[in-house]
Amino acid sequence: MPSPLSPLLRAASSLLGRRRDAERPATAPHDARRDRVTGLLSRAEFDLSLDDAALDADRKGQRFCVLYVDIDNFRLVNDACGHEAGDRLLAEVARDLPASAGPRAVAGRIAADEFALIVPGDLPAGHAAAASIAASLGRPHSVEGREMRLTCSIGIAAYPTHGSRPRLLSHASLAMRSVKLAGGAAHAEYSVQMGTDLREQADLVHDLRAALERQQFELYFQPKVDARSLQITAAEALLRWHHPQRGMVSPAVFIPVAERYGLIGPIGNWVIEAACRQAAAWRQQGLRMRVAVNLSGYQMRQDDFAERIEQALRRHGIPPARFTCEITESVAMEDTRATQQAFEHLRRVGVHVSIDDFGTGHSSLASLRRLPAAELKIDRAFVSDLATSADARAIARAIVQMAHSLELHVVAEGVETEAQRDVLVEMGCDELQGYLFAKPMTAQALALWADDDGPAHDGVFRPSLFEETKPAELPAGR
Ligand code: C2E
Ligand code: MG
Ligand code: MG
Repeated sequence: MPSPLSPLLRAASSLLGRRRDAERPATAPHDARRDRVTGLLSRAEFDLSLDDAALDADRKGQRFCVLYVDIDNFRLVNDACGHEAGDRLLAEVARDLPASAGPRAVAGRIAADEFALIVPGDLPAGHAAAASIAASLGRPHSVEGREMRLTCSIGIAAYPTHGSRPRLLSHASLAMRSVKLAGGAAHAEYSVQMGTDLREQADLVHDLRAALERQQFELYFQPKVDARSLQITAAEALLRWHHPQRGMVSPAVFIPVAERYGLIGPIGNWVIEAACRQAAAWRQQGLRMRVAVNLSGYQMRQDDFAERIEQALRRHGIPPARFTCEITESVAMEDTRATQQAFEHLRRVGVHVSIDDFGTGHSSLASLRRLPAAELKIDRAFVSDLATSADARAIARAIVQMAHSLELHVVAEGVETEAQRDVLVEMGCDELQGYLFAKPMTAQALALWADDDGPAHDGVFRPSLFEETKPAELPAGR
């Protein structure tokens, strides 16, 4: 029988009860309706509150929203500070949740770092509550003496607009996953299209799982050239996926998907193995250039990833100092125990570490100095604006000077025009990479390109055999 008390009021009063619970000594018996860690309603209890809220709304012709909240990258907190500290942070977050969503909100814990709320009112109230929750999570939280700011992804489903009672929570969760798919740190209300996007995503994940087995991956290579001599110094391995129906799928599309669904481990291992095998084959042909691979943050957090690199290098007889690991600035600056350990392992193995996409993250000079990096790559965004923007020139010049003072080698990526090249050479950039010199190409094409199909190779840059690649000419007098 429905309770005579408004269910929202009932739930709110039970929340007040929860606050009193939190003040009780630790020895107090556990309330089975509540989650042990956070004191919020358990999943089952939240479902009951949702039933009541729907009945009540039907009776009174009112509306309410369900918010599905997932903290972004919460795993990093557990990695960096341990599970106990993670639990304490969750409890802190849970304490603030109902208050930031409004006095009549009801909150439950659905899974590890996933919460759901019932917020009285229509969509504007739901959006306002979501914004307020995001703001509250974004305030500094102190964990093990570190200050952390959290972001979250929130999906909103309104009752009855976005579905009947049984579908409400799953629609809010779908909206949350769509927000995650788009990079997180935002909120969105449910739409039917979201289901299609996620189904497409599910198809992609399904195909990606089989791609290794079906040998659909290939490494392309793009040369880096010395800014002054134009000799090839290195080749960066860039992963390509030949999908039987979709054609060539860009790594910018499938790498984030592989990361999100835990598929990057085996794919990353394949890349390391294939790059080492290719480096060895080139060395046999007399092409003694450095080979670079891109490592994702997820690989860096695998315990045995440096060992795998070490073993692959040994197996193929590649000196570690001739092998580059490119790690994006945003991953390199993650101040987590796992990332620091990964860098320590890479230092021990003795590989050449490069900080990729530099300028897009939030580096501090102090943390840059601590990294065992030898190279820094200026992000393409700054390079593309060089010829037209004084700001981009000022930033690029500052990066080159700072990197040199830290004894880091500077590579500019995405060099497409001679004007950009001239500015970069004048700034003292050490190496250049981009379509002006060569697009990424197959290993065989690169060998031909580098060797100009000639017999003896002396590493000197020669005109390409391919139409889309142009030999670069240095300005007169250089
Ligand atoms: P990245 O490592 O910064 O690689 C540079 C990207 O810029 C490549 O895109 C390259 O093809 C493109 N590029 C190079 N020169 C030019 C130019 O002059 N103009 C323009 N417009 N673009 C240029 P790609 O191959 O699509 O790779 C995109 C990103 O995917 C890479 O960025 C890297 O972060 C990631 N990625 C590629 N392969 C792997 C891999 O094996 N493992 C991991 N974890 N990530 C990878
Ligand atoms: Mg790279
Ligand atoms: Mg890059």
